[in-house]
Amino acid sequence: MTARILSGKPIAEAIKFEISADISQFRREHGSAPCLAVVRVGEDPASAVYVGNKVKTAEEIGMISEHHHLADTTSHDAMLALVESLNRRDDVDGILVQLPLPDQIDGREILEAIDPAKDVDGFHPINVGRLSQGEKALVPCTPAGVIEILKRSEIEIAGRNAVIVGRSNIVGKPMAMLLLQENATVTICHSRTRDLADVTRRADILVAAIGRPGFVRGEHIGEGATVIDVGINNVSDPDLARELFGVDEIEKRLAAIDKRGFTLVGDVNPKDAMERAGAFTPVPGGVGLLTVAMLMKNTVEAARSRRKI
Ligand code: NDP
Repeated sequence: MTARILSGKPIAEAIKFEISADISQFRREHGSAPCLAVVRVGEDPASAVYVGNKVKTAEEIGMISEHHHLADTTSHDAMLALVESLNRRDDVDGILVQLPLPDQIDGREILEAIDPAKDVDGFHPINVGRLSQGEKALVPCTPAGVIEILKRSEIEIAGRNAVIVGRSNIVGKPMAMLLLQENATVTICHSRTRDLADVTRRADILVAAIGRPGFVRGEHIGEGATVIDVGINNVSDPDLARELFGVDEIEKRLAAIDKRGFTLVGDVNPKDAMERAGAFTPVPGGVGLLTVAMLMKNTVEAARSRRKI
């Protein structure tokens, strides 16, 4: 069997197209576009890339965006004051604080200070609680993107066995809640799960959010399962790359290691997934592309419900 590749690109493009139409309508009704404020502290290179993508995408689809870039010496109180001022501003619809934050800033307190109505990352306890009660909420972008991939690829969720490996607040737990809302039978696995492969092999839908390159191998994947790879890992070891990629892909990966020092790899062994899965999201080019699109969707939703349109 060769798995069907669930490419994130056309799905992310379709969502962005739909949102840009929503934004045009919003502007007609309200006089201005929704506004996303992104806050970044320090010089973490990965954060700079993520924030750059978010701001660029916002501009592409006609959303207003603000980028607040603070020095890595910024105090907790100064950060809190910025969040509070963004909360008070009526023209700001969404607030995103890019993680990680430097040690002197208490990230939990900052995330809890964000007005839940503007919490477009969906990390505020109010939104987490609403999601778990099945109420309308702003939902974390990456798991929301996974649901879009499944639905738009016409993969049935209701009644299927969904197994998630990973129980983080950012991916694993909200993923479980969303799949439950879609009427899947949900199992959450983690580092203390016994006989992991026995559990994951029973999955019709297997979601890997672990943070270990190529961790999910053939023995973990049931024949014909849909495998969603959320992981994003930098691999710089050419031998590990050779274990993970087949002849059609390995030259490109080794060239990337040569040129940039690493290649992006998911939490699933792609060679094994191609052989055993029925459908599989690639890395890069899968789930990752949906995360930014869903952030834009959340910002428009936040603007609509806050401004009661
Ligand atoms: P965390 O490190 O917060 O969580 C990892 C989870 O994996 C934990 O629950 C951990 O279990 C579990 N785990 C670790 N080792 C094992 C093991 N041997 N067997 C079973 N479970 C294990 O990671 P995140 O959820 O933040 O991220 C997961 C991955 O997704 C990363 O690669 C990250 O880069 C990527 N990611 C991608 C995004 C995207 O846009 N596509 C967005 C966010 C993350 P335990 O709780 O017991 O320690």
